[in-house]
Amino acid sequence: MARKSPSRSLAVQDNGAPAHFVTALAPEDRRLNFGTKWDYAPAPETAPVKIQPRYELFIDGKFVTPHSGKYFDSINPANEKKLTEIAQGDAHDVDRAVKAARRAYEKTWSKMPARERGKYIYRIARIIQEKSRELAILETMDGGKTIKESRDVDLPLVATHFFYHAGWTDKLDYAFPGRKPRPLGVCGQIIPWNFPLLMAAWKLAPALACGNTVVLKPAETTSITAMHLAQILQEAGLPDGVVNIVTGAGETGRAIVEHDDIDKIAFTGSTDVGKIIAKALVGTKKKLTLELGGKAANILMEDAPIDQAVEGIISGIYFNQGHVCCAGSRLLVQESIFPTVIRKLRDRITVLRVGDPLDKNSDIGAINSKMQLDRIHELVESGVSEGAELVQPRCKLPERGYWYPPSFFTGVTATHRIAQEEIFGPVLSVMTFRTPEEAIERANNTPYGLSAGVWTDKGSKIFKIANKLRAGVVWANTYNKFDPTSPFGGYKESGFGREGGLHGLAAYSQFA
Ligand code: NAP
Ligand code: MG
Repeated sequence: MARKSPSRSLAVQDNGAPAHFVTALAPEDRRLNFGTKWDYAPAPETAPVKIQPRYELFIDGKFVTPHSGKYFDSINPANEKKLTEIAQGDAHDVDRAVKAARRAYEKTWSKMPARERGKYIYRIARIIQEKSRELAILETMDGGKTIKESRDVDLPLVATHFFYHAGWTDKLDYAFPGRKPRPLGVCGQIIPWNFPLLMAAWKLAPALACGNTVVLKPAETTSITAMHLAQILQEAGLPDGVVNIVTGAGETGRAIVEHDDIDKIAFTGSTDVGKIIAKALVGTKKKLTLELGGKAANILMEDAPIDQAVEGIISGIYFNQGHVCCAGSRLLVQESIFPTVIRKLRDRITVLRVGDPLDKNSDIGAINSKMQLDRIHELVESGVSEGAELVQPRCKLPERGYWYPPSFFTGVTATHRIAQEEIFGPVLSVMTFRTPEEAIERANNTPYGLSAGVWTDKGSKIFKIANKLRAGVVWANTYNKFDPTSPFGGYKESGFGREGGLHGLAAYSQFA
């Protein structure tokens, strides 16, 4: 069903469909000539992928039926078709998983020489590499992200994370000289849907390397690759109970958070749920790290190489459908280059291809769920009704599935919801500034502080600005680059604790 467009449309194109123009563009530049893309033949990624009709829980090294006997559907958001059924774990299953993890911790994993632990983690990394094509396709089918992203970004990073942490396993004494690191025990890990396998790798690899055992809960809409990872753990011969995967809903996550015999909770997800978890852990012995939402500013100075910057901005918000916690969802442009930048942005989003995520030509895939799509619509409508101006190509979206076209807003003020709240979709809010000081103030003016970007020709400006940004990661003349050696995490409502690098190892260790 075609959705009603936001009410504040500024023009109507020939065929009657609404288009939204940027008033700041000169009249001759307002000819939004959408739909003049090249047409390519479909180029779907193929590999022999086997999706089971049903996935059970992974507890104590075995696939077991859930205590409730219930299963829920996992669908492909690109066509709304059911892919499989996933086990609905409850508090009883979580308890079984925690007991298995405790046994494995005490009897096997913490007793094993670190060098031996490292061998398992290397083995897991190698099997992931071998199966990366199949895993990328599964990730794309279950979550909606483009195959370009899952194949070229997610999967290589997943394997790298395991390799990197495997290398640290028998060198922890050198990572923390004189501090004698010891494992924490049993870790409960809860992850979101935007990078399903990558978030599992970010959580599992450092925990295992440091000698902990784990109970992991994937997000409800994207559990399939976690269960294939469980098969890989079996294939690698990982001792029973070292990693347990309990699928289910928010309640399943809550049962992990509230279980008495867990030593640490590591959570990646929304700020709202992060706050609930933080409250639940007050007064307990459990350690906590939270990786939450973001509203990153990309600061574009007038001396930046504009074409390169526009490419970085595009990849920072539109690829992966904007489903990235550190997405550059606010663009701050120096006033003198504003008209040029928005013209280039407009031209570029016009030729982005929205469509079948499995097609190698698609730049933007499907929105992960109906719930997320509704949230994007709601926030975009709020932007229009609060007075911002929307630029949105009138591209043809597939009839079934959840889709949103690449869009941006101009005329955004700091108080608009679209400048403050996480949209988590392919929608950019563009604002202007005059001086670097004003850019810093605007960039820091959100409740979040996860990431930021600076684009300028001058190294000195990069250092000056980056030092004043209240963000855990600041990219300079690039965006969304990840590396397991580099710690990642936030300030303010983006959470606390770091994942990756030495900081990430410390978060899974205690010191004598
Ligand atoms: P979410 O709703 O907070 O869910 C995250 C995970 O928590 C899911 O597995 C969810 O289960 C579970 N959960 C829900 N309620 C819970 C509760 N009361 N107790 C324990 N667990 C609970 O977030 P999301 O919508 O999946 O993910 C998007 C959010 O994650 C965005 O805000 C994004 O910015 C953030 N994110 C942050 C980072 C980072 O590193 N900072 C990385 C990626 C994503 P169900 O799926 O079953 O609801
Ligand atoms: Mg799905």
